[in-house]
Amino acid sequence: MLHENLSINAMGHLCIAGADTVSLAKKYGTPLMVMDEQRIRRNLRIYKEAMAKHFGEGSFPAFASKSFSCKYIYRIAREENVGIDIVSSGELYTALEAGFDVSKSFFHGNNKTDFDINYGIDNGVGYFVVDNMTELDAIDRVACEKGIVQKVILRLTPGIDPHTHASIMTGQVDSKFGIAIETGQADEAVKYTLTKKNISLEGFHCHIGSQIFDIKPFCDAGKIMIEYISHLKKELGYEASILNLGGGFGVRYIDAQPELDYEEFIRLISRFIDDEVKSSGIKKPTIVMEPGRSIVADSALTLYTVGGTKEIPGFKSYVSVDGGMPDNPRYALYQADYTVCLASRMNDKADFRCTVAGRCCESGDLLQENVDLPRPQRGDVLAVLVTGAYNYSMASNYNRIPRPAVVGIKDGEDFEIIKRETFADLTRNDL
Ligand SMILES: *Cc1c(COP(=O)(O)O)cnc(C)c1O
Repeated sequence: MLHENLSINAMGHLCIAGADTVSLAKKYGTPLMVMDEQRIRRNLRIYKEAMAKHFGEGSFPAFASKSFSCKYIYRIAREENVGIDIVSSGELYTALEAGFDVSKSFFHGNNKTDFDINYGIDNGVGYFVVDNMTELDAIDRVACEKGIVQKVILRLTPGIDPHTHASIMTGQVDSKFGIAIETGQADEAVKYTLTKKNISLEGFHCHIGSQIFDIKPFCDAGKIMIEYISHLKKELGYEASILNLGGGFGVRYIDAQPELDYEEFIRLISRFIDDEVKSSGIKKPTIVMEPGRSIVADSALTLYTVGGTKEIPGFKSYVSVDGGMPDNPRYALYQADYTVCLASRMNDKADFRCTVAGRCCESGDLLQENVDLPRPQRGDVLAVLVTGAYNYSMASNYNRIPRPAVVGIKDGEDFEIIKRETFADLTRNDL
């Protein structure tokens, strides 16, 4: 199957981490997201071990928690002793609630509000990843008021096109994120940052995009960033101690995509970095990476109950399920690839080509098109695989549909991670 944590049992049911998805759907209801905890920990450890081995002791992954943010995941990050990347005060609050030590956090975003800056500093956020100079002024002012020196790194755009979907591409010069090296603005930003008394510039950050299968853009980015660091040492005598290379490693959603060897990717990137460090004579910075998708995506799947099936002669067939864009907006947003299967009848012949539609009053509410399934019947359990990243964290209550429950599997036991929303939750803030 697509990943080693998926299997089919004697009843022809789809299993994740050995747990029967049809039984889980019955026990918890649908839509339901099911997460394999061991897989999350395994993915984190691959990064942790490969980074320590190839980049050196002190280098570490910071889980990009926008991909899946809830107390459970921050507890796992704490137990696995990794850092986190957060993008809002809400994510910071959630991490604090989970007892996460946020001195190991990177606070991102292209528009941190004054509230965010105050809240972050008051709670001891490790690093702000500064996106622009007006933001730097604001952080400096708040840090001065509070009588502290705040650590920051600057987000730079290395000018790289990683060939992924335009909505998830971020390393090019024309981006809403970061400061361009190419235009000379990065040099100005560094000089300006070094004049700030309440700011300590620790280094730099870049993030070239997401769902990237090619190693080259990562190696190029690493090389460009190290070259830039060495340029600064020569020009300004400034030496960066942290280089954060962001996230972006691709994940296998469909058979046609490869399963990447992340350790090998890290080894190759480190070769580029080491070559550049050696030839320029700079001190090798601590390398941080911010994987999100590649930590949680393949740990989860989403279960739905099939409702109606509709055949339109001469056109196509639709299968409707009891979730859709409220729990997974990624197909509606950018036609994301997913593998869909009929979890309750995995061994039946998949000879019915259809479009899987969500339940919302929106024609774009589709989960996938041109899927081959056994002809679904009302009540069958349908699974969309590899839904751990950017699904629950992007979920909404469109059409007043409660967000689904999230259930974890560990050592053969199932347990709730996030409760299903109730109708009362839907009206909680209505006056
Ligand atoms: C989204 C994002 C990440 C994570 O990207 P993945 O593709 O999920 O690994 C890391 N860093 C930054 C700054 C991001 O915006």
